[in-house]
Amino acid sequence: MPSKFIDVREYTVRAHKRQIHTRVFHFVCKQCDQTTQRETFGPRPLYCEECRPPQAPKKSHQSSQKAKPRAMTYKSDIDLG
Ligand SMILES: [Zn+2]
Repeated sequence: MPSKFIDVREYTVRAHKRQIHTRVFHFVCKQCDQTTQRETFGPRPLYCEECRPPQAPKKSHQSSQKAKPRAMTYKSDIDLG
């Protein structure tokens, strides 16, 4: 029986639907330090619903305020002259 080697490519799983469930986390809000609880699909939240409302406004102004690289003056003890 003839045989040969072929290259099997890496492949990713097709897009599909998956049912996930929310969990209710009891935690202390990082902003107001209040013990609170919050239901979320994702990982443990950091802020309560008052500090971070579920439908937070989209960040639209932040991209224009990126920190620009600053010219730095480096001092050296080595005299290149
Ligand atoms: Zn809070």
